[in-house]
Parts: sequence; C-alpha cells; structure tokens
Amino acid sequence: MHNRKNQEALRMAKKTPYDMAVEQLEKCAKIMDLDPNALEILRYPNRVLSVYIPVRMDNGKVKVFNGYRSQHNNALGPYKGGIRYHPDVTIEEVMALSMWMTWKCSVAGIPLGGGKGGIVCNPKEMSVGEIERLSRGYFAAISRIVGDKEDIPAPDVNTSGREMAWFMDEYSRYSGYNVPGVVTGKPLDIGGSEGRTEATGRGLWVTVCEAAKKSGISLKNATAAVQGFGNVGLYSALFLSSSGAKIVAVSDSKGGIYNKDGLNVKAVADFKAKTGSVVNFPGAKSITNEELLETKCDILIPAALENQINASNADKIDAKLVAEGANGPISPDADEILFQKGIMVIPDILANAGGVSTSYFEWVQNLQNYYWTLEEVRTRLDALMVKAFNNVYEKASKNKIDMRMGAYVCAVDRVVKAMKLRGWI
Ligand code: NAD
Repeated sequence: MHNRKNQEALRMAKKTPYDMAVEQLEKCAKIMDLDPNALEILRYPNRVLSVYIPVRMDNGKVKVFNGYRSQHNNALGPYKGGIRYHPDVTIEEVMALSMWMTWKCSVAGIPLGGGKGGIVCNPKEMSVGEIERLSRGYFAAISRIVGDKEDIPAPDVNTSGREMAWFMDEYSRYSGYNVPGVVTGKPLDIGGSEGRTEATGRGLWVTVCEAAKKSGISLKNATAAVQGFGNVGLYSALFLSSSGAKIVAVSDSKGGIYNKDGLNVKAVADFKAKTGSVVNFPGAKSITNEELLETKCDILIPAALENQINASNADKIDAKLVAEGANGPISPDADEILFQKGIMVIPDILANAGGVSTSYFEWVQNLQNYYWTLEEVRTRLDALMVKAFNNVYEKASKNKIDMRMGAYVCAVDRVVKAMKLRGWI
C-alpha cells in the first residue's frame, strides 16, 4: 500500500504543466458534457514553433538559445499571451500556459485567443546588450507567425516594457512601418496604455468587491492578507484599502509583516522601494510566508507563486474568500478542501484577467491610433470584470460547482460556440 502511494506520488511529480492543463480541461468537459470532437481539438495547441537563436555574446563567442511560441486556439480572435525568459522554460510549460490564456481571454469576454512564448535563458546572468540581441533574434525568428492581426505577445516572467519596445521595433523594421499593435505592455511613449501597470490588481479588486457582495462581507470592515508584494500584490492591496479594507499582512520572498490594526500600504511600498523588502517595516510584527497564508482574515490574496496553498496547509486557511492574484497558487487537492470548508475561491483565470483585458484595450487603441484617458480605461475594465465575475458566479451557483469549474465552463463554452459557428467541428 505504502509503495503504491509512493508510486502515485512519483507519477504525480512527473506531471508536466501541460498534463495538468489537459486534466483540468477533461474535468470541465465531464461537467459540461462537452462534445468529444471539441475536446479532441482543445487538448492540443494549434501550433508550436521551436526556434534556435544565435546570439553574439559580449565575449565574442556565439551562443545558441532555444525559444518557443505556442498558439493554442484562435477561434475567438488573434492569439494573445506573454513571453517569459527563464532557465526552466520547457515546451510543455509554454503549451500549458497558452491553453490557460485561451480560457482567460474567453472568460474575460474579449475577442482574443490563447498563446504563450518563452526562451530558455537566465537574463540575470546576461548583459543588457546580450538580452537585446537575444530579444531581437527571437522576435525575428517568430516574426512569420506573430502580427497585430495574428498573435500579439506581451510581458511575462523577466520581461517588461523594455523587451516589448525591442520586439515592436524589430517587427516594424521588417514591416517597413510602425506596428505598435504587435505587442502589448509597451512603455506609454510608444503606444502603451494608461492603467496597464495597475490593471491586474484593479481587476482583482473589482472581483473581490463583487464576491464580497455575494458573501455578505463588508469591505469597510474587512481584513485582508496579501502574499507577494510585487505588481499584482501591491495594486490589489492599494485598491482594497481604498475600499476601507484593513491590510493586516503582506509578504515578499524574504518574509512577511503583520499588524492587526492594518498596514499603511503606500508606506510599506515606499519602505520596500528603499530597502528591497517589506521585512522590518516599523511597527509591524515579522511573520513567515507560511504564517501569512494561515492568517485569520476575510480576504486572502496569494499573488506570488504557484502551488502555495496545497494539501499540507489548505485546512489551516482561515479566510472567507481567496482571490488568486498569481497563476495557479492553489493546488487541485487544496481546491477541493477549500470548497468543502465553504471558502469561496475566485480562480486565477478570472481574478487576474484584468491584465490581459487592459492589454486588449492597449491593442484596440494601437489599431485605432487613438488613445484613452486613465478614467476611460478604468471604467471599461471595471465593467468588463463585473460582467465576467457575474457570468462565472451564476454558472457556478446554477451547476453547484466551485468558481474555478464555473470559470472553465464559461470559458470553454464560449470557445466551442465559436469553433462550431466557424465549422471547425
Ligand atoms: P512581481 O515579480 O512584480 O512580484 C512577485 C512578488 O512575489 C514579489 O514581491 C516577490 O518578492 C514575491 N515572491 C517571490 N517569491 C516568493 C515567495 N516564495 N513567497 C512570497 N513571496 C514571494 O510579479 P507580478 O507581476 O506581481 O506577478 C505575480 C503573479 O501574478 C505571477 O504568478 C504572475 O504570473 C501572475 N500574474 C501577473 C500579472 C501581471 O499583470 N503582472 C497578470 C496575471 C498574472
């Protein structure tokens, strides 16, 4: 028995992110009694390109890097998804992430499909010049399959506006004219959108406001804990405190801080900017990341890494609502435990969809060459997130399933309708 358990653990450990993505799809297919032909198509990306990019390094030698672009599904519109630079990038990871992007765009109700890219590299050990040559080489290598009407990349792990500017420039050189809409997440001066930096945290806050109404939580008196104090965590915390919520705990990779009376989020952000961490913020008690997750609070926001809430700590979660800022912070076993405990989980493909939605707005502005104010972006984003949340909530309540499967059913249903209308099935 013990041996069989070990073998099962080994088998599980060998699962690639792509295996997990397919499993989630199969679970959803069962719930919605999905046409097996649709399932067969959706299991696979439409196309995966693998490229080898020669880069002249600063020492004069040429080094070849492997990069990928996976295009999962474009039934609803051009492929959309970020490009990550990381030594652990694999083809399976990129394929899984592209499938998740299909669901995220679909659940947000935007006319885009799912894509994702990555380069196996460690940018922390490369000079700016080497990173620029690699970025331009990669984009040149994938240029035949991307484009403002075909596939629109964006930043992801270890890439930012800087790389997007190089991508846009490289692509525009081949085209012979400026093509700002070929990537999103660009700096404002070359076609970026107002409101993009705050968008994921703002979108998450909007979904939490909606969920609070349904669960009878008053944000004015609510307490919240946020794991990860980067882009998503910081803006989630800022918007939540603007609604009167007390942010009692935050953390980063070095550890966490707690104050039962609430932390001044802006002051913590300034402190982190100066010292590099939230740890040792005056007037707060130091806690570990594990303790942060187990903090008694109304709203818990894991906004750092994947697999933070798993079978080992799920029963210790003491929150009424969990909103996934990060991608995949709750393991499937933990999902089940939280559902049994009656904790509402706003799943990643819904809770953090504000980022891709504002990328969509950036793309629309680029195509029109007409730019919106911050207020316009916020108004449109808020309306989109409220609608997406309520669609998912209704689907979950009606079918007595958790919010994650509710989001999956909404997402898959929209993609399959488009595939059927287009005659793919
Ligand atoms: P970021 O790099 O700005 O911030 C990450 C934060 O997590 C940092 O504060 C870091 O110190 C902290 N962290 C790292 N390791 C940790 C650990 N072991 N324990 C606790 N904290 C740790 O990244 P981000 O853009 O805020 O992204 C966070 C997550 O949200 C990722 O999963 C990302 O894929 C997801 N996401 C981001 C966006 C976006 O628009 N930025 C959109 C959708 C999803």
